[in-house]
Amino acid sequence: MQLENKNCKKRIVIVGGGAGGLELATRLGNRLGKKNKAEIILVDATLTHIWKPLLHEVASGTLNSHDDELNYFAHANKNHFEFFLGKMINIDRTEKKIQLAELSSHLGEKIAPCRSIAYDILVVSVGSTSNDFNTEGAKEHCVCLDSRAQADYLQKEFLNLYLQAQANTLIEDTQRSLLNIAIIGAGATGVELAAELHFAAHQFCKYGLDSIQPDNVCITLIEAADRVLPVLNSKISSLAEAELVNMGIQVRTKSRVQKIDETHIYFDDGTQLAADLKVWSAGIKAPDFLNNIAELETNRINQLIVKPTLQTTRDDSIFAMGDCASYTPKGKERPLAPRAQVANQQAIFLEKALAAYIAGQPLPEFVFKDKGSLVSLSDRNSVGHVMGNINIEGFVARLMYMSLYRFHQIALHGLFKTSILMLKDVLSKSARPQLKMH
Ligand SMILES: Cc1cc2nc3c(=O)[nH]c(=O)nc-3n(C[C@H](O)[C@H](O)[C@H](O)COP(=O)(O)OP(=O)(O)OC[C@H]3O[C@@H](n4cnc5c(N)ncnc54)[C@H](O)[C@@H]3O)c2cc1C
Repeated sequence: MQLENKNCKKRIVIVGGGAGGLELATRLGNRLGKKNKAEIILVDATLTHIWKPLLHEVASGTLNSHDDELNYFAHANKNHFEFFLGKMINIDRTEKKIQLAELSSHLGEKIAPCRSIAYDILVVSVGSTSNDFNTEGAKEHCVCLDSRAQADYLQKEFLNLYLQAQANTLIEDTQRSLLNIAIIGAGATGVELAAELHFAAHQFCKYGLDSIQPDNVCITLIEAADRVLPVLNSKISSLAEAELVNMGIQVRTKSRVQKIDETHIYFDDGTQLAADLKVWSAGIKAPDFLNNIAELETNRINQLIVKPTLQTTRDDSIFAMGDCASYTPKGKERPLAPRAQVANQQAIFLEKALAAYIAGQPLPEFVFKDKGSLVSLSDRNSVGHVMGNINIEGFVARLMYMSLYRFHQIALHGLFKTSILMLKDVLSKSARPQLKMH
């Protein structure tokens, strides 16, 4: 089964509707699709989008993923592009087609066979997954935060530990239960998750699931480098660590995990740590299927290498952006880090660049402007640096952190609808519990 391009309009196919791909499809739909200047198609492996930097809140239960998800079909219809549900598994560069895997329901029933979609221009924006560096036991015993499904799973596991402890008090007549949580990787994801789980532990108790008292929840943040948030400056790193320690979170730096089993984490210095819940958040890689896909140039973590125009090095009609692309700016030694900010700026760049490409004009070059990094530590506190290297912390930093998601919403829905969504959030927050407990 295949979708041919029979009309004379150029067809731009974007694979991956995440932080970057969805913003790009929305922008191109409104710029080119609406005026019939090009056919815009978005393909994603799931039916709904949730902004990935929210996943630690989904995992801890402080955000209900149903409240903030966006349906691709409805969004495409409003923004003049077409959506196809499917998982890309290959690219045929000779025929200029992408191949999608067979589609199955959650019960395993076949919904659609393998399909292919023809493209004139292809943009790959399939994001990244966790990189466990083949650590023994990591796949089997750790949860990752790569997708909404995984975040929902972690939330259920966390809740179940509380429900189990509550049920056990009836059987064992004990009020004291311990819960050990280990998070491997103290980058932004690990730090934010630790802080969010700490907050959730207090909320469980407040809502009556008090068999595990917050003091009996031991959250350990494990990092191989000598400090948390190793990619941010040392001042921010110290501020974040002090705040985490203040919350009662154990910070274990210079600790390299060697092996993980059902009950413990084992370190290369011979020590071990008991853990009921284990989360892997140390490092990323692009999805494995991208490794040398269609003989395009990829690096050791499967990212597609791109030129300053964001075209892949071996095929000018294939672009890549966001976490799955590796772009090293001129004069820099290292590629851009995988961040939502990069994906967002690349979407803005590609909107203009692809319009120029279709009009036969020369392509501009992508220039990244680092607007800083912010890490959330609680509902009242964040730390980070903005505008070059100005360190900020506290409530102002928290407000700036929260505005990042609102900017993503504005890019997708415009200012008016985002204002309505913000109002809805404020109203519903006052009416519902602060923690999802189902
Ligand atoms: C918990 C957490 C917190 C974070 N916090 C921050 C932060 O505070 N600031 C920041 O800058 N960054 C943060 N990040 C990183 C940020 O989320 C990513 O850099 C950003 O989402 C990358 O955008 P993307 O468009 O490349 O990929 P994604 O947003 O990951 O989107 C990829 C999309 O591709 C789809 N897809 C994957 N494979 C296929 C396939 N084979 N076929 C079809 N579709 C496919 C997926 O379903 C998904 O919709 C955080 C990440 C996590 C996990």
